[in-house]
Amino acid sequence: MRAGNEADRDCKGCRSDFRVTEERIDKILSSPMFRPGSVYCVPDAVYEERLARCRACPKLIDGHTCVACGCLVRITAKLKEKRCPLPGGAEWETYA
Ligand code: SF4
Repeated sequence: MRAGNEADRDCKGCRSDFRVTEERIDKILSSPMFRPGSVYCVPDAVYEERLARCRACPKLIDGHTCVACGCLVRITAKLKEKRCPLPGGAEWETYA
């Protein structure tokens, strides 16, 4: 059995035994919509800035999942229309 604090940090959207791997994320990011120049994606500098903020955030677990919304930040931070789920997009906003 896991300690209460650890259980509180589980993603609410996944089974407790499901584990995301970097390889799975890499596979998703290899799809055409994430290729360089995609109309859906932010410029690389914006992406890196978003990820830096996520890496410094206490809401990030296992280095890839945001517990505030359940997203995989390496994927979500790529997308122009997404923003940090904290109130007001506290850490990063949508990209116009
Ligand atoms: S999206 Fe926002 S709340 Fe989630 S890990 Fe990144 S900075 Fe933290």
